[in-house]
Amino acid sequence: MAKALDFFLDENLQMLKVQGLYNEIEWLEGANGPIIQISGRKLVNLSSNNYLGLATNGTLKEVAKKAIDKYGVGAGAVRTINGTLDLHVQLEEKLAEFKGTEAAISYQSGFNCNMAAISAVMDARDCILSDQLNHASIIDGCRLSKAKIVAYTHSDMDDLRKKAKEAVESGRYRKIMVITDGVFSMDGDLAKLPDIVEIAKEYDLITYVDDAHGSGVTGQGKGTVKQFGLEKEIDFQIGTLSKAIGVIGGYVAGKKKLIDWLKVRSRPFLFSTAVPPGDVAATIAALDMLIGSSELTDLLWENGDYLKAGLRKLGFNIGNSETPITPCIIGDEYLTQQFSKRLFEEGVYAKAIVYPTVPKGTGRVRNMPTAAHTKEMLDEALEVYKKVGRELGVI
Ligand SMILES: *Cc1c(COP(=O)(O)O)cnc(C)c1O
Repeated sequence: MAKALDFFLDENLQMLKVQGLYNEIEWLEGANGPIIQISGRKLVNLSSNNYLGLATNGTLKEVAKKAIDKYGVGAGAVRTINGTLDLHVQLEEKLAEFKGTEAAISYQSGFNCNMAAISAVMDARDCILSDQLNHASIIDGCRLSKAKIVAYTHSDMDDLRKKAKEAVESGRYRKIMVITDGVFSMDGDLAKLPDIVEIAKEYDLITYVDDAHGSGVTGQGKGTVKQFGLEKEIDFQIGTLSKAIGVIGGYVAGKKKLIDWLKVRSRPFLFSTAVPPGDVAATIAALDMLIGSSELTDLLWENGDYLKAGLRKLGFNIGNSETPITPCIIGDEYLTQQFSKRLFEEGVYAKAIVYPTVPKGTGRVRNMPTAAHTKEMLDEALEVYKKVGRELGVI
């Protein structure tokens, strides 16, 4: 190893460990379901994004196996080079139906999709107005485009309007885009999409909504854009297929003209192999379930409401979530870490989220109930919360 690298790694790993920021990843011994096993112990899992339990759904597993038998385990090549599997085209048609748009393009992940889509339309002569709390992949996607990035205060529509006006009046930019998460995953709040659309119309902004935590969850499962009835107004609807949909992949849904452009100009589409056929088939089946019925989504909300009511009754501060995401705000960073550790010891897996992911003094344990949890599992978790909350003087 080069001495410079050796020195760099030693110094920085050491620093993280001293600061208590070095993350040891737990090993799940088996599937990522509502109950998980770690070091031989079973825990109620309140940390996954598997909102609808689809990652372990029996029907989807069967569909994936059949597709593997027919198509094999890999896509074989980049779609533009060796032809696309018909499955990928079916997936994109299904995504457009799901999102209520003319067309859609699929990518290998949600992260990768933001790398692809932003830089395919924005460049150094453009400006991006980005919510301060946007996901890391949006931030990286914006950087890659080389556009001027202007962050606006989280969900502050006056600030967005002011910055849009400044950008337009400066006369410096050819195009201006506004980007936001649909659902913010740390607090569970929704983007103010009707206001964003209004401001976008006023200043001719391109609108880009990454609804990774919304699809399958909000809008009867069809997402946050649908919830507000804005399918025709938002230029880019981004989603992931790895959270509520339970599999893997990402996509952009929008006008056919836009999707045509992304198919010839977005680099991860052109230079990276597509998602394997088993996963694509499972995703199509998952989307069919969500298009046909909101049963799983309804169950998710019921469980979310149940957990929230239980925590509130115990006296916890659960913030202002508008979705099943249930933060339990503890405050002090050390106490939050301690709280999560004690939950773990007592059989509940819920991650501590602290500064710098959230503002200082707002450390929280974040709970992600799913449609796959039973009331008994949630009751068990609430009992543990009661015990640990009293023990640590939080309630
Ligand atoms: C999770 C997430 C992603 C990344 O999705 P993957 O499919 O896991 O790569 C992108 N954007 C947002 C807003 C997310 O929450």
